[in-house]
Amino acid sequence: MSDFIIVGAGAIGMLTALALRQRGYAVTLIDRQQAGRESSWAGGGILSPLYPWRYADPINALAQRSQALYPALVASLIETTGIDPEHLSSGLLMLDGAEGDEALTWSRRTGTPVEAVAMDKIAAIQPGLAGVTGPGWWMPQVAQVRNPRLLRALRAAVELSSIRLIEGAPVERLELVGGRIHGVRVAGRIMPADAVVLAAGAWSGDLSGLLPQPPQVQPVRGQMLVLNAPGSGLARIVMRGGRYLIPRRDGRIVVGSTVEQVGFEKRTTPEARQELHRFALELLPELREAPIEHHWAGLRPGVPAGIPYIGPHPAAEGLFLHTGHFRNGLVMGPASTELLIQLVEGEKSFFDPTPYALDAPRLGELH
Ligand SMILES: Cc1cc2nc3c(=O)[nH]c(=O)nc-3n(C[C@H](O)[C@H](O)[C@H](O)COP(=O)(O)OP(=O)(O)OC[C@H]3O[C@@H](n4cnc5c(N)ncnc54)[C@H](O)[C@@H]3O)c2cc1C
Repeated sequence: MSDFIIVGAGAIGMLTALALRQRGYAVTLIDRQQAGRESSWAGGGILSPLYPWRYADPINALAQRSQALYPALVASLIETTGIDPEHLSSGLLMLDGAEGDEALTWSRRTGTPVEAVAMDKIAAIQPGLAGVTGPGWWMPQVAQVRNPRLLRALRAAVELSSIRLIEGAPVERLELVGGRIHGVRVAGRIMPADAVVLAAGAWSGDLSGLLPQPPQVQPVRGQMLVLNAPGSGLARIVMRGGRYLIPRRDGRIVVGSTVEQVGFEKRTTPEARQELHRFALELLPELREAPIEHHWAGLRPGVPAGIPYIGPHPAAEGLFLHTGHFRNGLVMGPASTELLIQLVEGEKSFFDPTPYALDAPRLGELH
């Protein structure tokens, strides 16, 4: 019998499995398909919330801690698996001058570098941009990972540890008897465990149907394109009006993203393809010749105020929640895993865990 069953092998489930295994627990990680093929794969891999000053402090606290953890995480994945997740400090240039004072106040308060850039200085940071009509904001420390590679590395690390990885096995429900978790049900059979971690991304709400207090997780679709543009000269992540271009090391450029509440609908739409492509060409006209290699969609685990659920379920003994990372799961993942492990072990946590508890107030919209 496992000490822990983890439901869902996205970035969050795999990070959790590795961390629990490192603490010596017997871990089973279950996914209904191949590990790392949902939201964590579909995302952009930007290691910062977009416009971080618009987000609640608990989100930025996890993001900042993760930013410090990423270099060692990536180095250890390269060493153990040979797979390079391409952690790259490309910086983030925002062409939204109107963010104004809010950005600077946040920068001062958190000690995060955000530099105001006059319009005529923008080309020195990133040449070739079109339609620049005002000042911008430059966050030189923002990095990215190539998330599909990060996931391959995490899956390889899981396979190299003694974690039992079961793929192609949909968990039908959590087994809860008398207020205590006994395991999960897969293909009509109970798989017993002392404890269960719910890390099923956008599907976590569905799996919580029988819980006395289910976490509020909803799918939020995001569509993306990738252009093949070797030699384009794009070296920075560039944002305008909520859309972005991310330059990968091999010359590919990821264009994102839409934010759509359409339930569990993962199909892509011609409208989004056109809109994202138009955005890319308007911002960097030299991309006109670059073919669209792929257009895809993923379902983010949306939660009120964007604050994930991290910690024990108050009315289901043995159940831990690690879900609801919405738009920031890759950047929050390492720190939120660290916090979860500290809560599992009853250690003093790096952060105040209160805002991430199931019953903490999450003021604000799905954000
Ligand atoms: C277009 C887009 C762009 C994004 N860009 C960024 C970004 O730049 N930076 C950033 O930090 N974040 C970004 N995100 C958000 C980030 O991808 C998510 O917050 C994060 O991936 C959530 O990870 P997860 O492991 O919880 O979910 P997922 O990766 O979705 O994993 C959940 C897993 O649970 C499994 N599962 C579900 N139901 C069951 C079941 N019943 N039984 C067994 N397994 C089950 C699924 O198959 C899946 O593998 C983006 C997301 C999208 C869609």
